[in-house]
Amino acid sequence: KAAVMDGVNVDQAELLSSVQSPAVKTTFEKIQCDRRTLPIYPYREELLRAINDHQILVIVGETGSGKTTQIPQYLHEAGYTSQGKIACTQPRRVAAMSVAARVSQEMGVKLGHEVGYSIRFEDCTSEKTILKYMTDGMLLREFLGEPDLASYSVVMVDEAHERTLSTDILFGLVKDIARFRPDLKLLISSATLDAEKFSDYFDSAPIFKIPGRRFPVEIHYTKAPEADYLDAAIVTALRIHATQPPGDGDILIFLTGQEEIETADEILKHRTRGLGTNIAELIICPIYANLPTELQSKIFEPTPQGARKVVLATNIAETSLTIDGIKYVIDPGFVKMKSYNPRTGMESLLVTPISKASANQRAGRSGRTGPGKCFRLYTAYNYYNDLDDNTVPEIQRTNLANVVLSLKSLGINDLLNFDFMDPPPSEALLKALELLYALSALNKHGELTKLGRRMAEFPLDPMLSKMIVASDKYQCSNEAISIAAMLSIGNSIFYRPKDKQVHADNARVNFHMGNVGDHIALLKVYNSWKDTNFSTQWCYENYIQVRSMKRARDIRDQLEGLLERVEIEITTNPNDLDAIKKAITSGFFPHSAKLQMNGSYRSLKHPQTVHIHPSSGLAQVLPRWVVYHELVQTTKEYMRQVTQLKPEWLVEIAPHYYHLKDVEDLASKKMPRGHCRSTKD
Ligand code: ADP
Ligand code: MG
Repeated sequence: KAAVMDGVNVDQAELLSSVQSPAVKTTFEKIQCDRRTLPIYPYREELLRAINDHQILVIVGETGSGKTTQIPQYLHEAGYTSQGKIACTQPRRVAAMSVAARVSQEMGVKLGHEVGYSIRFEDCTSEKTILKYMTDGMLLREFLGEPDLASYSVVMVDEAHERTLSTDILFGLVKDIARFRPDLKLLISSATLDAEKFSDYFDSAPIFKIPGRRFPVEIHYTKAPEADYLDAAIVTALRIHATQPPGDGDILIFLTGQEEIETADEILKHRTRGLGTNIAELIICPIYANLPTELQSKIFEPTPQGARKVVLATNIAETSLTIDGIKYVIDPGFVKMKSYNPRTGMESLLVTPISKASANQRAGRSGRTGPGKCFRLYTAYNYYNDLDDNTVPEIQRTNLANVVLSLKSLGINDLLNFDFMDPPPSEALLKALELLYALSALNKHGELTKLGRRMAEFPLDPMLSKMIVASDKYQCSNEAISIAAMLSIGNSIFYRPKDKQVHADNARVNFHMGNVGDHIALLKVYNSWKDTNFSTQWCYENYIQVRSMKRARDIRDQLEGLLERVEIEITTNPNDLDAIKKAITSGFFPHSAKLQMNGSYRSLKHPQTVHIHPSSGLAQVLPRWVVYHELVQTTKEYMRQVTQLKPEWLVEIAPHYYHLKDVEDLASKKMPRGHCRSTKD
């Protein structure tokens, strides 16, 4: 076992000093110094003792105190890794990647060797890996292959306060295995005060508190509600930048998503260009889930002298990532959140007001290294009267089909009696069971079918998994996995530079030729790229993001591997579009909608008014019957990624779900056909 001194693994430090240049050695030494200044450091021994004495420990400490980066290292230094790996779960992919990168640097090892990360579709670990940072969803999937997590000695469920769906399910699973694996250590760590609740849930596990250092934060509210919070945020940032001396601290703005961040980025660049040279440089650093890896580390780079950094972040900077040097926080008070209506089974992403707990976390980000200021772009009245105290745990506002499928494949059948910290609405559980039954993943006794078992192998939404498994029947599994991979990328495939919108739109039209629908258009994009032998030039010419395409290729390769695992042959049927569309419909038939007189759509099973998203190739075509991939709610409830279908397919493919009467007005003469979008709702 390596000797331990002052929190540094001496073997490694010696090893490094013997092989590396003095310059590198100083960096390494500086990092070791930094580690010792973190609030958690004085509690190292006490913490290790508590972990030694108790199987389950709840750890609470202010964000930035060093929980995520230090505790796994302390455990390693104390020898825990000789009995198995250490897992540390994160609710967000970017956090898992970024923290793993930081810790590998602190330990002086290559990322992916001793320290690695695992997120969906990306495994950066090896045989050597002993500290494994991973998304909570990935640990959940590991249960499928290793139900007792035998290869782990410690599981740290980090950022527990975020209460993501996967974290909540993990709670139940790890609590259960802790009973028959007395050697397994379980750490539940959290940034907020919900500790009692965690402790109660884990049979009164002791709570270890790491006292934080927090400087006072001055809170400013707006006098009246802001009509345009994005603009208000930008104006506030520029005002701070122009009036405060540059060296005194950086700015952090909380926005709701990639699109908003990109818009803010553009506007800021544009407006600072006009400021002239009297004003210090403003370095704009975006950070969001889909930001390419190589750009993620930019936010951590120290701000050069005389300049100021403005970080444009999603909720990820609320507690998952700590950026040093922030003095000003601008909080518009919104977050993009999933919402789910268990009555209709509809899920959509919605920009909603944050909770008071969130608002306080956000404000706290400005007072880490000195007194800070937080500009809330809402009124004090709003704060006190309109914001909820806490964010509702995800399990109570999401579609549960995915976890129900995972739990069923873990042999957990009695879901109503699963040990939930906060149970989901029983309506939502029933809805999930119903959907899985409709997809034939469960039989009528609620037991997993052979099909369901195959679906569970895919780390995808059950409807996508079903589409893939069903494609076998239509001899187009090759096309199905390409489409699934492209859909998994989200909406970052096409790009549309402001000055070349017409060109970009023209390039895009090519893929939509013949009104094939968005799914087939995505397939055409993928296949055309493949035909050019994955040419980067081709992507440029067609206004397609190379990076997204490479990721799609990666995901596709993995899906291909999974096909083999569930013994589905690769079959290809590129010219039979109906066969491909039938495969899509096999997975997405619950998402079907019918055109109305006024150009809107009505979802079939649970009537609700929806619209084709303006970015869809079918937005002007308005086919009579469609299936869609997902709903997003902005100004209206929009269907994103839409494909035309023949209504008789619904009865053919899902006779237990749709009856002739549902699709019967086939012959109705009154139905409009191919008319232009109606502007009224
Ligand atoms: P906690 O988990 O308690 O919120 P962390 O362990 O994440 O705290 O952070 C401890 C310190 O490590 C912070 O000062 C943070 O800025 C720093 N840090 C974390 N990740 C990185 C990174 N990728 N690059 C540079 N510094 C980082
Ligand atoms: Mg952390």
